[in-house]
Amino acid sequence: MVGPASEARVLRQALNEKTAKVALCNLAFVIFLSLKNTPLAFLSASSYETLMPLHKAAGYTTIVTSLVHAVVYLDAWAQAGHLHEMLETAQIAGTIGGIALLLIGVSTVPYIRRQRYELFYVIHVIMSALILIVVGLHRPDFSKSAIIITVFAASLSFMDRAIRLYKFSCNFMGNHAALAALPNGATRVTLRQSSDATPGSHAFLWLPVIRFAETHPFTLVSSNPPEFVVQSCDGFTSALHQYAKDFPGKTLRCSLNSGYGKLPEFKTYDSVLLIAGGSGASFTFAVALDLSRNPDSCSSNNITFVWAVRDQASISWFYAELRELLLDPRIKVMIHITDNVGSSTVISLSGSFEKDSPATTESSRTSLPIMSVDPEKAIELEQTTMSESHVDPEKAMAYAVEDIPRSAIAALPGRPSIPALMESLVDNCDPRKRVIVGACGPEGLLETVKSTESRCIRPDGPSFTLHTEGFGW
Ligand SMILES: Cc1cc2nc3c(=O)[nH]c(=O)nc-3n(C[C@H](O)[C@H](O)[C@H](O)COP(=O)(O)OP(=O)(O)OC[C@H]3O[C@@H](n4cnc5c(N)ncnc54)[C@H](O)[C@@H]3O)c2cc1C
Repeated sequence: MVGPASEARVLRQALNEKTAKVALCNLAFVIFLSLKNTPLAFLSASSYETLMPLHKAAGYTTIVTSLVHAVVYLDAWAQAGHLHEMLETAQIAGTIGGIALLLIGVSTVPYIRRQRYELFYVIHVIMSALILIVVGLHRPDFSKSAIIITVFAASLSFMDRAIRLYKFSCNFMGNHAALAALPNGATRVTLRQSSDATPGSHAFLWLPVIRFAETHPFTLVSSNPPEFVVQSCDGFTSALHQYAKDFPGKTLRCSLNSGYGKLPEFKTYDSVLLIAGGSGASFTFAVALDLSRNPDSCSSNNITFVWAVRDQASISWFYAELRELLLDPRIKVMIHITDNVGSSTVISLSGSFEKDSPATTESSRTSLPIMSVDPEKAIELEQTTMSESHVDPEKAMAYAVEDIPRSAIAALPGRPSIPALMESLVDNCDPRKRVIVGACGPEGLLETVKSTESRCIRPDGPSFTLHTEGFGW
């Protein structure tokens, strides 16, 4: 006869096995979803970064199920008086795995992830490798499925890292980066070796002189040569900017791991609205320049380019690109200076901020096209105040695209009205046509764009697509 005590034991045993299996399968799933070179990129139209929410969900599930597994086991052993078994190698390995999982969990709290990203990253890399080793030691029996799942997950992780290392090694030979300090803590990085990656996609940049053990993702403004505009944030990006200021024109050994991120085919849409905030313009300039440079394959005659920057000096980050866009009559360019609440201004782009003009002997030697910009002081943009009084933004917009010479641009004060821009794009489009909005910038800007999306979807058309790019996950 089976008593209540033995029934409870059987139940506990079943719960133990189930939670152990769920935790282990989730661990393999977490590793699979963390791959940068994921097979899902080939099978679906999504890149690895779109899988990050799933990676997080699977990660938290692994932590919770592992904890339940540990608590139920400890309770069962305590009741049976077998707690001394915790000192066996397999159980010590399991305990270390649990602690490592908890550490990863703690490191994901938003404060640590945002403010101490380098710490978060180091904990993630070291602890995930440790977890795979100790889980293998926890259940080392090769006749059981546990070790097979663990070895499979470890192989996936190893292969992904090997592919990344291979890409970095291939692009390291003979590759140099020229740095140019730009106003407001930005740095333009121009690489010597061209890349076959699509402009607007992102790449991981390795600059060993700045940070030997770190690579960081940046969006390619162009790929031939590869160019990035990097805004100072913290460790790596601030050190990069400081280096560009301290050693103007000096080139650095570097490498690139490119080809990440999936972009929609903007050129197949009839109307395109591109919205960027700050350094998010790396993405929208890449897309707009691609549309402008390939007019034959582009079906859109209505391209609106909106860029919001804090102040006038930041406009010089993309001086050459802006000038190129202004030459294309299909593209309406609208610049918003958010710190300026008063009047619109006309900014001349005919200054001395030219590309392809070697600035120093070092950069001349490596023949890299870099900016001739004084790193010490913000570029003084030639400016004429249109009016001291308030200017109607709609009129100013018309002024921007019609009246002023193509070597100058009107900058509107304050933030752009994103809902109005998006809705008028849809309102003014033939219902049988296709429109797309591409946006990249700070979280607040992307939230506004996403919350306006539902207002742009009309039952009677036009077909509406939204693509947003964030600079974090
Ligand atoms: C797909 C993508 C494209 C990007 N493109 C650009 C760009 O074109 N121009 C630009 O100025 N910035 C871009 N960024 C942001 C840039 O990667 C970070 O600002 C930079 O890595 C910060 O590093 P840090 O050492 O200065 O600061 P940290 O303190 O190390 O990081 C600050 C924040 O940057 C993010 N971050 C840092 N390292 C990474 C990493 N390896 N992977 C993902 N996120 C990270 C984290 O959210 C962190 O909270 C992009 C980010 C992503 C994810």
